Amino acid sequence: MNEETRQGGCLCGQVRYRVPAKPVETVVCHCRNCQKQAGSAFSVVAFFPRDSLQLEGELQTFEDKGTSGQTVFRRFCGNCGSPVITDTEHAPEMGLIFIKAGTLDEVDDLVPSVHVWTERKHCWLTLAEDQVQLERE
Ligand SMILES: [Zn+2]
Ligand SMILES: [Zn+2]
Repeated sequence: MNEETRQGGCLCGQVRYRVPAKPVETVVCHCRNCQKQAGSAFSVVAFFPRDSLQLEGELQTFEDKGTSGQTVFRRFCGNCGSPVITDTEHAPEMGLIFIKAGTLDEVDDLVPSVHVWTERKHCWLTLAEDQVQLERE
């Protein structure tokens, strides 16, 4: 593996991808939809330049509606169900693609800078004080 890139994939391995080593930003989303889709308390999302994503394998798409009314394309492996990519209507013009960071092979250096939708955060969870916390988006 080239040190300029980082790899990841779904649980069963049918979907694999490569992205640059460093995400533009890493965000934790505590919104209800992310909780539901992840089956967990939150979703960790790493932002990467859209053009840099090299994807192998087939993803299925669930069209979700964000709180703002924006369509959110939640893309997952149809075989094992891992959520892998989140895309939005506005992501192409921002030049970004959003990777579910739990699918990255290496996460040791991945530290989120922002928490969004903390008004929906599970009550047992204590967040680091040096990480930005937004009640909504
Ligand atoms: Zn899979
Ligand atoms: Zn969310």
